[in-house]
Order: sequence, then C-alpha cells, then structure tokens
Amino acid sequence: MKEVRTRYAPSPTGYMHIGNLRTALYEYLIAKKLGGKFILRIEDTDQERLVKESLEVIYKTLDLVGIKYDEGPYFQSERLEIYKPFAEDLVKLGNAYYCFCSKERLDELKKEQAESEEFFHYDNHCKNLSNEIIQENLDKGLPYVIRQKMPMTGETVFDDVVYGKIKVDNSELEDQILLKTDGYPTYNFANVIDDHLMNITHVVRGSEYLSSTPKYNLLYASFGWDIPTYIHLPLILNENGHKLSKRLGDKSFEDLIAEGYLVEAVINFIALLGWNPGNEREFFTLNELEESFTIEGISKSPSVFDKTKLKWMNGEYIRKMELNDFVELIGKQITDSLGNKMNKIKIAKLLQKRIELTTEVESHLGVFKKVANYSTELYIHKKMKTDQLIALNSLKLALDKLITIDDDKYTEEVLHDTLINLATENNLKNGQLLWPLRLALTGTEQSPGGAIELIDILGKVESIKRINNAIEKLMKGE
Ligand code: GLU
Repeated sequence: MKEVRTRYAPSPTGYMHIGNLRTALYEYLIAKKLGGKFILRIEDTDQERLVKESLEVIYKTLDLVGIKYDEGPYFQSERLEIYKPFAEDLVKLGNAYYCFCSKERLDELKKEQAESEEFFHYDNHCKNLSNEIIQENLDKGLPYVIRQKMPMTGETVFDDVVYGKIKVDNSELEDQILLKTDGYPTYNFANVIDDHLMNITHVVRGSEYLSSTPKYNLLYASFGWDIPTYIHLPLILNENGHKLSKRLGDKSFEDLIAEGYLVEAVINFIALLGWNPGNEREFFTLNELEESFTIEGISKSPSVFDKTKLKWMNGEYIRKMELNDFVELIGKQITDSLGNKMNKIKIAKLLQKRIELTTEVESHLGVFKKVANYSTELYIHKKMKTDQLIALNSLKLALDKLITIDDDKYTEEVLHDTLINLATENNLKNGQLLWPLRLALTGTEQSPGGAIELIDILGKVESIKRINNAIEKLMKGE
C-alpha cells in the first residue's frame, strides 16, 4: 500500500486562525493514525501578502502544541524554477495558453463588468490566439501570463470524503492564471504541482476550497496524475452564526493563550470542532487523539466555537493538573503580586479549585493583601445560622484559642482540629464559627478558601490582627 502523506500548507499571511490550526491538527492526526508522514510546506509565492512574523507564529504554535513534522518546512519561494516548465508543458498539451492582455485592458474589463454588476472574471480574450500571433508576441518580448484552459462545456465531478460527490459546470470555471508575468506560479498552481511532487495522498483543508478543487483536478487530469483523497473540513462559526474571523473580533490561537487558556485545552477543544469520536468522550490529550482520530468521524455540518464550553474545558484542565505543574504555571503571578511572605503552593492549591483561566489569578489575590471594606450586616447569614451577636461570640472564642497556639503549629490539621473542637465544646454549629471567621479574615463572602485554609496561609500574626479588627468593628456596630 502507498505510504500516507499529508501536508499542512499555510500561506504565511498573518496570525494563526483557529481554522488553520484545526487543519494542521487533522492532517497530523491522519498521518499518525495511518502510519504516514506529515509534511510542512510554506506557500509563500505571493510575496506581496507575506507577513514575516507569521512564519515564527507557525513554528511556535506547532511546537507548543506538540505537532512535529516529518519533512520540511519546504518553501515554495525556494522552488520557483520548478513550476514554469510544468506550465509550459500544459500549454503544449493544449490545456493552458499564453495570455498577453495588458493591465489596462484588464482594468477596463473589470470596470465594465462592475458596471453591469458582474463579478470580475477573465473574458477568455487570448484563449484562441493563433500560433503565429502567439509566436510574434513572444518574439516581441511582450509580457504574458499562462492561463489554465477550462473546458467550455460538460462538468467536473469529484469525490470528497466528507461532502460526497461534488459536481461543477465547467462553464463556471474561470481560466485562472497559473504563471504570472514575473514567471512565478500562482498559489493555485504551485499547490497542485507540489502536492503531486511531494506525493501527497490526503489533502485536508477548509470547505472554502471545495469550489477550487475542480480546477485542480483538471490540472491533475491534464498531466495524467493521480488525484489525492480530498477531505474538506466544515466551517467554524462564531456564536452569532458567522464564519469565525479575526475581523469580527474572533480570537486567534495566540489570543486565546494570552487570555489564559492552556494549549492542551485549546487543542482538545479544536479537535472536536468538526470531529466526533462516536461516543460521549470529551477529553483527549494529543497522544490520545493520535490513537482515536478517525476520518469517518469528521462531520460536514458547521461547528460552533462555543467559548463558554472552551472556558469550562480549560477549568477542567486546570483541575486535572499536578499541583507542582500548576505552581510552575502561576507561581510567578502569585509572588509578583504578594511577594514571598505567604506560601505560594498553598495559595495555588486554593486557586486550582476555582479558576478557569490562568489570567484570573490576580483577581483572587486581594484577600491576601487586605480585608475588603464590608458591613457587619454580612454576618447575618440564614444558612450558617449566624448574626452579629453570634459572630462576635465566635470570633472572641476563636481569638482566645488561636492566641494559645504557637506560630509554628499553625498547620491546616492543627487549625482544623482546634476550631472544630472549639465549636463542639461551645455547642456551635461549625458554620457558626467558621463563617464569621472567614468574613473577619477577608471582608467578603467570596474568598478563595475557607477560614482554616486562610488562617493557615495568612499566619498567626496577620490572622489575629484581622480577627481583632473584626471584633472591634462588631463592637462599634459598623
Ligand atoms: N495555502 C493554503 C492556505 O493557507 C492551503 C490550501 C490547501 O491546503 O490546499 O489556506
């Protein structure tokens, strides 16, 4: 059997779209699953649209995600001399022709077509020039392009693995340019030549390429080459039902990472945008995807980029992390914000249960800096069965007890046992003691941990100071 060879063929013209990354991922997974090779080819023949930094973005993204290419990167700009002879062969075969139309003529044509509200298309002016005229023009050194000669009648049919049989009337196909006046190939031409020369067996790309595929197939047919297996991927829509687009404010891969999403979560999420594992399973590492991915699971219906779901998934990924790795990830944010006074591992452990994005860390650190301004009315809490009086009593009891424990015994276990015993001894429900303490220590109902965890992190001096202040506040009835 022929070796499976897939390729990711980005044009380096900007940032990493989510759709591009999905294409790269699926190409890679198909190669892995079928024991083949994955190739990286940079389609940079259109030098005007080139954005230098985007190459770095491509490398960096693939590297971060863990997608390794077996061959490449190949650069079309370094292969320019390869394409021209193929275009000339096509002319000889009668499936392409020299076109000498000047820019002025084409501009005029564009204007006329615009006036009659037509989309711009070439009017085949040079399609049937006589050999003499062609030779004369070439001898004169007139600039020319080479255009693909589309059949005027009939239809081109091809099979797409996802979309099934696709038929296009040949009359709808424009005589597209294959070789430009400067002798460089167009993207459409180089793409086909390279897919053939690089023995690509599976072409995976967005469904926006479905309508160009007949033109490519006519090129394959002219040369008598094998047509690759086509796998066109469904559109990705944003929550408003529009195609995902940076212009509409949709995020690129880099944006998402900068917003605090984890690479692993984004990749897992992207894998499911257009692929269904055939069961309810939602969580896949890249390694697991390499095992589980199937071409049959690719769907043709558009998928929606549901940011709420991505955020949820990211939170789940955070919770699944080893604590050490999580500290590695966010520890610097904690020390940058709080200095080294408090134990960042303990703080991280609390945050790991609560945050969905790594950028949410700072918003939870306030309680470690100071107590928020609050009204003592917050001590009234039905479920916890507390009010200001009960709170005052509980805080005093706690304070008396906590003062007696040595600083170096302030561990979670000791604090836990001490406070729970204290509640029992005084006929208090745990909540009647712990809820007021939590409020006294933070000034808010939404702190990242309970009283015991907070005292452990804040330490003896700071905790006692805060409880003292709260007792004063209650006595003043603020
Ligand atoms: N260079 C094209 C792109 O960036 C590749 C299309 C294809 O995969 O054939 O979209």
